Amino acid sequence: MKNVLIFLFLTLTFTVYSQNVITVPSGYKGHVNVFFVETANGWILIDVAGESDFENIKAVMKENDIEPGNVHNIILTHGHSDHVGGLNLLREYTGAKVISHESIKEGIEKGVASDATPRTIFASILNLFFGSLEITPAKVDITFKDEIDLTVYGIDAKAIHSPGHSKGSITIMFNNGVTFIGDQLRDGKKGLNIGMIYDDEELAIRSIKVFKKSNLTDIYLSHGTKITKDQIIY
Ligand SMILES: [Zn+2]
Repeated sequence: MKNVLIFLFLTLTFTVYSQNVITVPSGYKGHVNVFFVETANGWILIDVAGESDFENIKAVMKENDIEPGNVHNIILTHGHSDHVGGLNLLREYTGAKVISHESIKEGIEKGVASDATPRTIFASILNLFFGSLEITPAKVDITFKDEIDLTVYGIDAKAIHSPGHSKGSITIMFNNGVTFIGDQLRDGKKGLNIGMIYDDEELAIRSIKVFKKSNLTDIYLSHGTKITKDQIIY
């Protein structure tokens, strides 16, 4: 009996505090992360990268025994083309329902990614080469304005609107503290900061301060690695 109780305790502890996350480096030189996150109902995919990443993402799914039909939702951290370009392919392949902020639905469905605002000369040059807004149109199924409770989709998390980097930026916060913030922070050579592409600096920092108030543990960056809350300087 005692052993059973210990087993149950360990199982519950593991279930509550761990989150199975598979990071798939995608895009040019693997600079954009796509994430598979395990849920009670299967898996979700956070961002999809570009169309040219589709084959690699499929291969990662195969390696990890993730059946296309087991991916029940795709959540978009924001509407920049390097994050949403391959949406049509992955939505068709998995049949997953797509969740995003309401401000980017129309653009994605018309085949136009969100405008990026470069703030340095280097970022402007990068934008010239990689900043095409044209994507294959794809359907967005579920949108929200300020906040959405994702537990109704079998995801033990909520998402909040976090504008600043771009109009449709969101923060996805699992109830165990595991958090996905898209491009709101980047761990570049100069340390952790809002990067060199953002629509509104003041708004971006305000959004970071909002999610920072929550009980966060592992924070996953779309460009970079995993950080903890005490690394955030704002
Ligand atoms: Zn971005």
